[in-house]
Amino acid sequence: MGWLEHTGQVSIEISTKCDMSHLHAECPLNHIPASMMPSDTVLKILAELGANEYTGNIAFSRYGEPGTDPRLWSFIAMAKSRVPRAGITITTNGRFLSPSIIMELEELGVVKIHVSLYGNTLQQRKIKEVLDGIAERLTTMQLEAPLPVNGHAHKPLIDIYTREERKEPYVPCYQPLADISIDVLGHVTLCCLDWKSRNCLGTISNDSLESVIDSSVVRTAFEQLSNGTRLRGICQRCGSSREQR
Ligand code: SF4
Repeated sequence: MGWLEHTGQVSIEISTKCDMSHLHAECPLNHIPASMMPSDTVLKILAELGANEYTGNIAFSRYGEPGTDPRLWSFIAMAKSRVPRAGITITTNGRFLSPSIIMELEELGVVKIHVSLYGNTLQQRKIKEVLDGIAERLTTMQLEAPLPVNGHAHKPLIDIYTREERKEPYVPCYQPLADISIDVLGHVTLCCLDWKSRNCLGTISNDSLESVIDSSVVRTAFEQLSNGTRLRGICQRCGSSREQR
C-alpha cells in the first residue's frame, strides 16, 4: 500500500446537500450546486481502497450532510465488507441522529461520529448534553459534539480564496496525502478547505485513485508542503496545517 502510506483519512463527498445550510450564510454549500456522487464512483473508490488493504479512516462527508443521503447506510455496509481494515467516520449536523440510530451506527461498525454544533446556545447545549449521555453508553464508537467557542465550530471558509495572505513563517502541512479529499464530482483536491475545488490534483472519473495520488503533481505538492513551502494562494491564506498520519 505504498501510495497510501501517508494517508489517515479518505474523505468522500457523497452529496452536497444539507438541510441546515440555509441557516448559515457563510456555508460554502450555499454556493455549490446540490448534487450526488454516483454510487458507481463511491464503489470504485471503496474497491480500490480494499484492494490495497487500506487501514485508515473513510469519511462519507466533506461539505454535504451525509444524513440527507439515503444511500449512507448501504455505503457504510459496503465499506465494511470491501475495506474491512478501515475505520468509518461520519461528520454530521446531527439532525438525522436519534439514540437508536446512534446505536445502529455503532453496531454497523462506525468508529466515530463528530457532530458539528454551530452555536453556543441553550438549544445546542441541550443537544450536546443528550449526545454526551448517549456517548457514555457506547462501547466501540466515539461520539463527540464539541461546543464552538466563538459561535462557530469552524472558521468561515467563504473567503479562503481572497482573504489576506499570512505573513508569519509557514509550518509544514501534510494535508494532500494525510486526508485525501474527493469532491462530489470526483475531483481529488489539494485540501478539504478548497471548497470550490480550484486546486484540483486529478479526477477519478476516468483514472484510478492510485494514478492520481501517485502522480508527480501530488507528490510535488506533498513534498513542498511538508517542507513548509506554500506556493499556492490557498495555502498562503489558510492559517492551518495538517499533521502527518
Ligand atoms: S497549507 Fe492549508 S490550504 Fe494548503 S493543504 Fe495545508 S491546510 Fe490545506
